Amino acid sequence: MKYRRLGRTGLKVSEISLGSWLTYGGYVERENAVQSIRKAYDLGINFFDTANVYERGAAEELMGAVLREYPRESYVLATKVFWPMGDGPNDRGLSRKHIMEQAHASLKRLGHDYVDIYYCHRHDPETPLDETLRAMDDLVRQGKVLYVGVSEWTAAQMAEALAIADKYLLDRIVVNQPVYNMFNRYIEPEIIPLGERCGIGQVVFSPLAQGLLTGKYTSVDSIPADSRAARLDWVKKGITEEKIAKVRKLSEVAAELGITVGQLALAWILRQPNVASALVGASRPEQVEENAKASGIELSADVLERIEEILK
Ligand code: NDP
Repeated sequence: MKYRRLGRTGLKVSEISLGSWLTYGGYVERENAVQSIRKAYDLGINFFDTANVYERGAAEELMGAVLREYPRESYVLATKVFWPMGDGPNDRGLSRKHIMEQAHASLKRLGHDYVDIYYCHRHDPETPLDETLRAMDDLVRQGKVLYVGVSEWTAAQMAEALAIADKYLLDRIVVNQPVYNMFNRYIEPEIIPLGERCGIGQVVFSPLAQGLLTGKYTSVDSIPADSRAARLDWVKKGITEEKIAKVRKLSEVAAELGITVGQLALAWILRQPNVASALVGASRPEQVEENAKASGIELSADVLERIEEILK
């Protein structure tokens, strides 16, 4: 496993990280989830991602419990705040009140004294940015959070946050968590350049397009029964014959290189120096094993050109 600096920080994270959305604390049965997290750790993955809202706290509980088996300094743990955790008007968003309450609730569920990264899971137009940033900064000063991040913010929103942080000498955001994969490249025009300029590293989610880029879906009519698309209709709707045809062509490129198409998709993401880590999900330890092997695969200019042709 190779490691990269997270944005401008001195923190080193594994090129492949493991997330817990829709899986752990949810439909993946407990023993399988535990084995997947342990497998990741054994393979050198040191970066684990969860959120308060994943299975309403159950993902944090499970991930926190497994990681407590290991020395705290040996891994980087991230969680998030924003999405509703209750029905009340203050049970959501990025107000000082909700951030503080959820930070403490997350630490309790995780069974940890601090998290390495705390993300604002979305931008909150109903809270002044300085209120949010002050609350996050206070958590850093209290030692409950080491680094501050955002998820799916626009380049303009991040630039505004940096300006406020600099003006009031608050801790800066150093990481953004956007979606990024061969079928969704929206971060390329503005967000990656901002990240490079301002030292914000990208930790990208759904790098396998929720499994589509592993080649497991061979036609819209043959969805494997044990797959995410079989369980979730909205995932199935995102799978089209056009995308499947592209994955088939990408598989040919991968086969020539002696790797799987999923590994090709992850190595393609890691060609971006501003990406600190490709954040994958896994429903079984074998998937973690296959995905982890993408670290360190370098794609030549010729291969990258062929991929562009296919994706065009
Ligand atoms: P992926 O694109 O990596 O999809 C993961 C799913 O693909 C797995 O659960 C599994 O599903 C399938 N899969 C993974 N590896 C393989 C393999 N080698 N062979 C076959 N199938 C495979 O990412 P996710 O969409 O799960 O996102 C990753 C993480 O990012 C999340 O866990 C979460 O932590 C974070 N995230 C953050 C968001 C945000 O708003 N900040 C939003 C979404 C995710 P199955 O076996 O069930 O088919």
